[in-house]
Amino acid sequence: MKYYSTNGKAPIATLEKAVVKGLAEDRGLYMPERIKPLPQSFFDNIENLSFQEIAYTVAEAFFGEDVDAESLKNIVYDTLSFDVPAVKVTDNIYSLELFHGPTLAFKDVGARFMARLLQYFLKKQGKEEVNVLVATSGDTGSAVANGFLGVEGIKVFVLYPKGKVSPIQECQFTTLGKNITAIEVDGVFDDCQALVKSAFMDEEVNSHMRLTSANSINVARFLPQSFYYFYAYAQMKKRGLADKLVVCVPSGNFGNICSALFGKRMGLPVSRFIAANNANDVFFKYLATGEYSPKPSVQTIANAMDVGDPSNFARIYDLYGKSHEAICSDISGATYSDEQIADTIRQVRNSTGYVCDPHGACGFKALEMGLRQGEVGVFLETAHPAKFKDTVDKILGDSIEIPAKLAAFMKGEKQSVPMSSRFEDFKAFLMAL
Ligand SMILES: *Cc1c(COP(=O)(O)O)cnc(C)c1O
Repeated sequence: MKYYSTNGKAPIATLEKAVVKGLAEDRGLYMPERIKPLPQSFFDNIENLSFQEIAYTVAEAFFGEDVDAESLKNIVYDTLSFDVPAVKVTDNIYSLELFHGPTLAFKDVGARFMARLLQYFLKKQGKEEVNVLVATSGDTGSAVANGFLGVEGIKVFVLYPKGKVSPIQECQFTTLGKNITAIEVDGVFDDCQALVKSAFMDEEVNSHMRLTSANSINVARFLPQSFYYFYAYAQMKKRGLADKLVVCVPSGNFGNICSALFGKRMGLPVSRFIAANNANDVFFKYLATGEYSPKPSVQTIANAMDVGDPSNFARIYDLYGKSHEAICSDISGATYSDEQIADTIRQVRNSTGYVCDPHGACGFKALEMGLRQGEVGVFLETAHPAKFKDTVDKILGDSIEIPAKLAAFMKGEKQSVPMSSRFEDFKAFLMAL
């Protein structure tokens, strides 16, 4: 399979190049040249298959030409070492819990898959080790660090802004050791991002060491997210509730919902999708007006969706042949204020006992408001509520339990390398490795 750039000015790339490079030369996003429909027999029998079996079938359609069957199977099975259950919240609303992985957020799926695929290509090349640089404002760092933890031949450097990430987030990438190094930058997130970009552009650094990025727009992080939409359908079909299925995705950079739309193109029988936003409503406005007008993000309590110019919009636009009408026929939108998100978390807890995180709450609310007669909805619970413990506790006037997996990170010893925000200092650090 070959990959083209959404900007149309970069050479066609192999999967290997698309994964190692991340972004195309023209700064566009890579797209697979073909999306293979899955056979009807797969959907007829899907409720009898395991998550791993379903995921392997989907992975085969994307990656089967470029990765041998046995290796691909190992990568898929190893990535999905945890369940993604669809849990009943009300009679017609279910929560797809994507927080049972190592860092308790959906980004585990893509990060783990990418780490293993990168390792596969490195082994094939027989080349020296590769260094992954990633700047994080919180969740990406932990998913990438944990995804690559213990993966041979790969070293990861997580750059994060000192004092600007929550203590729970910080311990998820500073306590790991092994092949993970946390770098605590005296600055803000943009400084971290600038250090990473400068390193990629610096010739001396690049001749000294092999660098790669694990950015969220990487095809190896975004395509595997389609796996769990098929599994959600299978679980709902087993319950006899899949005839008019609506899937609602709390969205920020729109990578997650984009994977769902790829799934639909492969034949996944979901009636329609809802993109649930917080106050950052650029996509919502696009649906209403046909105008895409990016703007600076505003801070909300669903902070992983605070995005003012979602990068995967380019992929959705391309997938639907740049047609606003076609996009609107598959996707509708919703946007909620912090107050509405907090009210939803309280209401859902009081009426059902289920605790949503602030992102999932946007998803629940959009289904509650938007489901039509006879439809059943599944929203993605994109992270465990305990990852946002301070916010959720304040809203519920309660202290929610921290899962053992999360508590274990908090017991580890924090280790990080202090760094100024000047590139000279970061470069000296890299050149001494
Ligand atoms: C990253 C993230 C999102 C947004 O996902 P996109 O793919 O960027 O749309 C939503 N919720 C949580 C908890 C996240 O970490």
